[in-house]
Amino acid sequence: MNTTTSASIDSAPVTHTEGAILSIKDLKVVFSGFKALKGVNLDVGENEIVTIIGPNGAGKSTLLDAIVGKSPVASGHVFYHGKDITNRSAFEVARMGIGRKFQNPNVYNELTVFDNILLALKGSHGVFSSIKSKLTAAKRDKIITVLDRVGLLEKGYSKVSSLSHGQKQWVEIGMVIAQDPSVVLLDEPTAGMTPDETHLTGEIIKTISQNHSVVVIEHDMEFVKQIAQRIVVLHQGEKLTEGSVSEVQSNPKVIEVYLGREQIDAA
Ligand code: ADP
Ligand code: MG
Repeated sequence: MNTTTSASIDSAPVTHTEGAILSIKDLKVVFSGFKALKGVNLDVGENEIVTIIGPNGAGKSTLLDAIVGKSPVASGHVFYHGKDITNRSAFEVARMGIGRKFQNPNVYNELTVFDNILLALKGSHGVFSSIKSKLTAAKRDKIITVLDRVGLLEKGYSKVSSLSHGQKQWVEIGMVIAQDPSVVLLDEPTAGMTPDETHLTGEIIKTISQNHSVVVIEHDMEFVKQIAQRIVVLHQGEKLTEGSVSEVQSNPKVIEVYLGREQIDAA
């Protein structure tokens, strides 16, 4: 028997779902006795957009943290391209190809949009050596492709400090995709955006999904409808259900714990 995967003597080894780029199996995260994730399963396919919704405190951000090695996994597995990467360091996970955008943009305000993307490219070391070294045609083309995908082609030579809140978020999405991740994880990317910026972010995510798999945490249901292919509903550390927009919206459990309240708020 192959014993390279973790297995007890009588149970079959836990492996990834065939064909899934990211495959999460029975994932549990515990914070000093508090069970933030109680055994979550999730598969993400190539070029797929998976949207995670659920009430505050459901464990959505914790799930992304556990995938990228920021929250320790108590039990269960994260498989990436079939390889068990559970509890690898955040640095290793990023290098392997899982990119994560955090809620607050981590950008250089005094540099141009172009230079921010340049700094994020693989093989760039340090602010000064990257910007002062000669820009190769390949790097330049790469940056232009990234700027185009995040809708910032015309802002390439603007300082980030001059951009709107929404545009700064797109710079950071650009910095994530500049590293060529297979999977991009976005935690509430539209927070604080205007309705127009929110809509454009949806279009950017759809564009990005042509080259990357995308997992998005979101609560704006209009936005979810715009981008969603498959929706996963988390509640109190567990997956309540998953399915299409209409399947999730008509699920009585989802209406009770999540959508019902939003509908009442909107009334
Ligand atoms: P969501 O993103 O769905 O709103 P989170 O994943 O941020 O929820 O949090 C899930 C639960 O875990 C919450 O009750 C939160 O207080 C708790 N939690 C999250 N991170 C930590 C942490 N680092 N230490 C202790 N508790 C945490
Ligand atoms: Mg959160």
